[in-house]
Amino acid sequence: MTHAGEAETEADDAFELYDLKVEVVAGERPFVCSHHVGDCFYVRGENLEFPRGGAFSLYALAAILPLLPAKQRPLDRNDWMGTDAEIACPDPNCGARFRITRVGRRTLRHGDCTVVPLDPAPGPTGEDG
Ligand SMILES: [Zn+2]
Repeated sequence: MTHAGEAETEADDAFELYDLKVEVVAGERPFVCSHHVGDCFYVRGENLEFPRGGAFSLYALAAILPLLPAKQRPLDRNDWMGTDAEIACPDPNCGARFRITRVGRRTLRHGDCTVVPLDPAPGPTGEDG
């Protein structure tokens, strides 16, 4: 089924993800690790991109990584993942926080990301023929 009379095209395997910025921000206590306020990296599609010469704690990165694919995707309006954007450093004595911000949208194609085929579209009479 198409929306508003749109013709189906080869672009039907397109989907959107948000690009993300992950930035070190100050917490309520001093930093223990080597973080510096403003240190950051970007998530664009499947890639992490670091500014030239940028450094980022691997322990902090390990804590942040599981959240990034969810933050890239559209979420239910009521989903807590949409509102909560600051992650604490995994060192319990460190005050650093890492803020995840959506900075743009990118269109990707299913066929460019996987060799697993999409489910076939339902026929003109629906799925429960
Ligand atoms: Zn830390």
